[in-house]
Amino acid sequence: MGQASRTTKLLLDLDDRAEGGANTGKRAYLEETAKLLDKARAFYVAFFLAHPDKLAERVKYFSERLQEERERLISPNELLTWAETLTVETSAHPHPLPSYNFSERFPNFPFIYRRSVIKDAIGKVRSHLSNLANWNASGKKKGQPGSPGASNHPTLYDEAFCLDLDGTDLQTSPRTCFARLKIYTGAAWEWHNYPVKLSRYFEARWCDPAWEGQSPKLILRKKSAALHFPQVKSVEAKKVKESKEDPHLVTVGVDLNVKNLAVITVRQDGAIIETVFARDHGLDQHRYGYLKRIAKKQWQSGKPVKGEHSNQQLWRHIDHLNEDAAHQVARIIANVCAKYPCCVLLFERLRKIRTKGGSKSRRMNRKRANQLRGKINQFSREKAFAQGICTVEVNPHGTSQYCSRCGAKGERFSYRDGKRIQQKWGKLFACPLCHYEANADFNASVNVHRSFYREWHWQPRKKPPPKAA
Ligand SMILES: [Zn+2]
Repeated sequence: MGQASRTTKLLLDLDDRAEGGANTGKRAYLEETAKLLDKARAFYVAFFLAHPDKLAERVKYFSERLQEERERLISPNELLTWAETLTVETSAHPHPLPSYNFSERFPNFPFIYRRSVIKDAIGKVRSHLSNLANWNASGKKKGQPGSPGASNHPTLYDEAFCLDLDGTDLQTSPRTCFARLKIYTGAAWEWHNYPVKLSRYFEARWCDPAWEGQSPKLILRKKSAALHFPQVKSVEAKKVKESKEDPHLVTVGVDLNVKNLAVITVRQDGAIIETVFARDHGLDQHRYGYLKRIAKKQWQSGKPVKGEHSNQQLWRHIDHLNEDAAHQVARIIANVCAKYPCCVLLFERLRKIRTKGGSKSRRMNRKRANQLRGKINQFSREKAFAQGICTVEVNPHGTSQYCSRCGAKGERFSYRDGKRIQQKWGKLFACPLCHYEANADFNASVNVHRSFYREWHWQPRKKPPPKAA
């Protein structure tokens, strides 16, 4: 049993009205809302900081299981009710604390936003108090934790937000629909519609009753606004130990590389039944070009200014390239897995490709390549788990050096001008014993299965050396 979760970023379309976007004024509304919520949050942060004892209060409750009275820490919901009775003017509590009268300071504030703000404040103040207690206990003189900030991304609960997928426009691509948000215009709280760009995966999950949508967050950036929409699904996945007892178990092995981003092989009953290559389509070279431009600019501008991030657009582009490629490859891997229910997905524990040597842009590119492999690993794990498939990391020892057919140590080579050249990073693999020749990445991918079944060169993981005292 476990829980799979995905967070989809849905961009709010704030482009020109004539092109289907929202009014420019509507962007200002979102900012006003976030600003007002920050103020309200600051109010409650101050309120809870003034009542630290209440946050640490122990409440008595009766345990049905143990049939006895027990004690526990006060829950956020109880704190919320308590805070509301003290700060909000209602018919039952007509006189809130004069110094903390929320109703007076924030008239007509929607109660649903008030609750989200109170919950945020509880979390912030609690973590601050525990940090402070740790700091006091450590006896340090420096580095006292500062008081908690009040800014946060607004959480949109049900009564402040509504997404209408039925009214979607089928013609446009990407498909858009409208999100209704309750927002502050600077003068009053109103409902407004915002066009949202949908993703087809999000839509599929939205229509699937197994996926449960949670409250989205509104993320405002300098040039864009987006809803970050979490969805969760409880998954029943077989334990790997149980799966391993199946004599006809299907394993999907993945070898991650730089040019062949992933080589996926599927094995059943000791034979490879499917192979898929996910190539990078020139991504490595493309990214290298961008990094060369950054390196040149850095060299031209000399010493970097502290606290200033340069070449932001270029870096962001590179990050997007990597993220996109990782999602695409992970989708290919997950699709292969989907063909074989009850399979186990195998990865090598990631080895770092060393970043030493070469030019600066080359080193930076290696670093990004490592990052990309990590992302592919992470995304495919998540996508596969949502289908109820577990992932195992196997020992990478020798996967690229040994022959996947007979287990002898082989060598790597490539062809240049029709001549065979032995190279450490050659594209091809040759076995001197059984004269097997294959793509080196494919050979490694087959060896991943060998490592999972502990055949031939498998070794237990070496324990890390004990830390020096
Ligand atoms: Zn061999």
